[in-house]
Amino acid sequence: MARAAVSRRLTWRAATVREARWETASARTLVLDVPDWPGHLPGQHVDVRLTAPDGYSAQRSYSIASSWTGDGDGVELTVQRVEDGEVSTYLDDGLEVGQQLELRGPVGGWFVWRNEPAPVLLVAGGSGVVPLMAMIRARGDVRGRQPFRLVYSVRTPEDVCFAGELARRVRDDPGLDVHYVYTRKTPDGWPAPAGRLTVATLNTHGWPPDFAPDVFVCGPTSFVETAADILVALGHDPKKIRTERFGGTS
Ligand SMILES: Cc1cc2nc3c(=O)[nH]c(=O)nc-3n(C[C@H](O)[C@H](O)[C@H](O)COP(=O)(O)OP(=O)(O)OC[C@H]3O[C@@H](n4cnc5c(N)ncnc54)[C@H](O)[C@@H]3O)c2cc1C
Repeated sequence: MARAAVSRRLTWRAATVREARWETASARTLVLDVPDWPGHLPGQHVDVRLTAPDGYSAQRSYSIASSWTGDGDGVELTVQRVEDGEVSTYLDDGLEVGQQLELRGPVGGWFVWRNEPAPVLLVAGGSGVVPLMAMIRARGDVRGRQPFRLVYSVRTPEDVCFAGELARRVRDDPGLDVHYVYTRKTPDGWPAPAGRLTVATLNTHGWPPDFAPDVFVCGPTSFVETAADILVALGHDPKKIRTERFGGTS
């Protein structure tokens, strides 16, 4: 991971869509070829720039969903379509395999998991799962022994990104645990009604503060603030809680 950690001047690069796959009905993963990609750390993001033929351009940030194992000129982005959103609708519904976009990165040095020995608590709201998935994948790549717990808040079972991969990883890896919080609709037989993230959920499915876990919280701004407040109220050291806000309100 060392090469990616070295800071350098960021330049725009042309990226080509090698593959695209739907994670849910409204979230698509773009597998991008980026020549001379310098590598990245799990949790980092890129800036994406789209430019229309008339010169109008729009720029947004997207977390990198894939881990980087030391070679390969590719990154994966997973984009949740925001209704009426300018950029996400194009990335999900307009961009086709073989087409290009501009990309700059990797960006960020704080919201990053660096294979430290502490247990890890990941708290995701909606598409906030994307950089946390990169951390889970990176831990898998290095066969990390740190226990990881993911608490993933999502509207309905159909909105879960990476559902199959998460289930497979949990099955094969006793050090990884995933707990879902469904805010609008639960699966049949789910033991709790739909509802938002609570103190009880993070108390039960997070790590006790005494374990001094590294905590990463990511999602819409209001979700991140609520989750961070709960964690601090439960006694977690605020300095160990790293947050990434995606914007939006829910
Ligand atoms: C560091 C960082 C990493 C990010 N990583 C990802 C990622 O991995 N996957 C991903 O899907 N998104 C990610 N985002 C969010 C992304 O940058 C865009 O904000 C999002 O795709 C909406 O852009 P848009 O142009 O479609 O919507 P816009 O045209 O900008 O906004 C349309 C409407 O949607 C609202 N809105 C804007 N953003 C959001 C949001 N995130 N949730 C709900 N409503 C919103 C706006 O307030 C506005 O009302 C990330 C944001 C940041 C800052």
